[in-house]
This record gives sequence, structure tokens and C-alpha cells, in this order.
Amino acid sequence: MNAKLHILGSGSALPVSSHFPTCHILELRDKQFMIDCGEGTQIRMREMGIKTNRLGHIFISHLHGDHCLGLIGLITSFGMLNRTADLHIHAHSDLQKILQPQLDFFCTELSFQVIFHAVNPTEHQLIYEDRSVEVYSIPLIHRVPTCGFLFKEKEGLRHIIREKVDFYQVPVWQLNRIKKGEDFVTEEGETIPNHVLTTDPTPTLSYAYCSDTLYNEKIISIVKDVDWLYHEATFLNSESLRAKKTLHSTAEQAAKIAKEANVKNLIIGHYSTRYRSKKKHLEEAKSVFENTYLAEDKKSFDLK
Ligand SMILES: [Zn+2]
Ligand SMILES: [Zn+2]
Repeated sequence: MNAKLHILGSGSALPVSSHFPTCHILELRDKQFMIDCGEGTQIRMREMGIKTNRLGHIFISHLHGDHCLGLIGLITSFGMLNRTADLHIHAHSDLQKILQPQLDFFCTELSFQVIFHAVNPTEHQLIYEDRSVEVYSIPLIHRVPTCGFLFKEKEGLRHIIREKVDFYQVPVWQLNRIKKGEDFVTEEGETIPNHVLTTDPTPTLSYAYCSDTLYNEKIISIVKDVDWLYHEATFLNSESLRAKKTLHSTAEQAAKIAKEANVKNLIIGHYSTRYRSKKKHLEEAKSVFENTYLAEDKKSFDLK
């Protein structure tokens, strides 16, 4: 099954035409999850031809404008488009205090419900779960309460080997049990071990999103072995003092986290507007962790 990550905004702070503030859309198991919603999100959605009819949940990492100022515009537009499905927003509880008065003013006849879910950004815990996906919070260190998000596909069922199932004449009503890993006992009482009848489930995918944060080794155990890690890389090494002071990370620090956590791939982003090119970010990160990619506006990653 396809999994994609769309980068709608890859920058920080001021919107500039080459990079808008942060917004990602993760497509996983036929669902869409929006992660942060900076100003300009709607424009990028149109430019990239992303239809959001499978978007039910938005996760906001923290209440700095470059991560949430796009929300009220987006919700207003969903209203104009007569959306009917509930929209769930997972964020620090202060977001509801900020957004509710705007909703009450601008969106008096909204055709759908906006449902807020308070996230405690200081805890690493399960904050969302459905049939096939789990989302955990990742506590980060920043100037305001901030957390990242770890998306994990749940393990699916085992795959039936058709010829074997036919050979041992497994009744149809038992197939679901077999897919769940049970052995099969024939009418003669012979036990056929599950591994003879099935192959392993499709490997699951994990994506961790960490923005914005001071270099923080505590996240390593949480993002251990993930398939894809997005980690902010606001600054280059030459501004490492500035990174520390503003509670952000450098590209090299993002790569250190990726390396220590043994992730498969690293995406860096949230670049300061002081840099005209991101070439050096990539160089500095790759010197520590080879499988590094640049987040860039309007770029999509195939995660599987
Ligand atoms: Zn930011
Ligand atoms: Zn911030």
C-alpha cells in the first residue's frame, strides 16, 4: 500500500516564495494526516493538486505562527466547500482558546464540526489510534511547549499461501484465524504450523516528525529505527550558537540524531530565511548521515 509525504511548506518564520512556513501531509493507509499548518498551506495544496477528502486529523506541534497560522483560513475554506466530515485537531490545549473565538466569528454556519484534542507535549504517549495507524507524541525542547509526532502503521495480518491452504483443505471460516497466526488442525488431528500456511505481514512503516527543537538526545530512543525521520535543521554549523540560543538545531545535529537512532532516512527542513541555498545544509548533514534528503516546498516523498 502506498505511503507518501507531501511537503507543503519547508521554511521557518517569514514566508518567502521559495519556502512557505511548515506544513506536511502524510498519506498512510488510505488516510491523510496534516502535520502543522503554516500560512500558505492552502495555496500549496492547490499548486500540488492535493485533494483533502481523506483528511480527518491535523496535528499541530506548537503554537508558533509558522506552524499554525494557516488553520483558520483552511477551516474557513473547508466550510465554503461544504465539507461535512468532522475535523479533528490535536494540539496544545491553548490552541482551542485561540482558535475558538475566530471560529465563532468567521465560521458561524460551518457545515462540519471542529473537534479539539488536547495534547500534553511533555509526555511521550499514544495520542491517536485507529484500525491501522497509531500516533505518539514526542516531547521536544523549544521556547514554548512543543512536541513532535511519531506515526506508526500497525502490523497487518499474515498472508495466506493459497496452494498450501488448498492442499490442507483449510475451511474458509478458519482463514481469518490463520491470518492472525494460529496453527491449523486437520480432521485427522494433525497440526499444521502457521508458518507453513502463511508468510509474514507486509512490513509496517514509521514516520517521525520533530520540529522545532534544541538538539535533544532524549528523542533518540523514541525515534529508534524509524523508516523516515523529519528533523528540523534551521541553521548551519556556523550559527550553532544561535541555534542553541533560539532553541533550534543545526543540520549536523539533525543528522547526529538520525545516526544515533539508526533511522533509515532523514529529511531536514525548517530552514532559516537567512540562507539562500540549502546546499550546505545537505552537505553538513550528509557528512554525518548519508541518507539525508532536503524538504522542499512542493516535493513529495514515496515512503515505501
Ligand atoms: Zn518554527
Ligand atoms: Zn517554533
